[in-house]
Amino acid sequence: MIIATDMPEVTQCAVTQCAYNAGAACHARAITVGEGDEPDCDTFFGNSHHTKSARTAGVGACKMTDCAHNDDLECSANGIKVGPSINCLTYTH
Ligand code: SF4
Ligand code: SF4
Repeated sequence: MIIATDMPEVTQCAVTQCAYNAGAACHARAITVGEGDEPDCDTFFGNSHHTKSARTAGVGACKMTDCAHNDDLECSANGIKVGPSINCLTYTH
């Protein structure tokens, strides 16, 4: 079994209303980017509960095949930032 440990980090996320957000950072284990045609975070979960995890999230998968950083449905950027509109700010078309 191969376990991926080299995911790009979500270095910043401005979506403070998301349950995985604390301190303007994402603490999910991994997120998926790409909801419909937009480079939005598909893992967003609007909830008053916020995770207590201190880990930094990785980008586990990305559906934006038209992004310059997308390699075989995965993100190859060094890290990404997510903006207040729940969008990947590192998306490069
Ligand atoms: S990157 Fe996505 S899952 Fe993580 S805190 Fe931001 S909106 Fe939520
Ligand atoms: S930088 Fe591109 S490939 Fe990486 S998560 Fe954002 S949209 Fe996807």
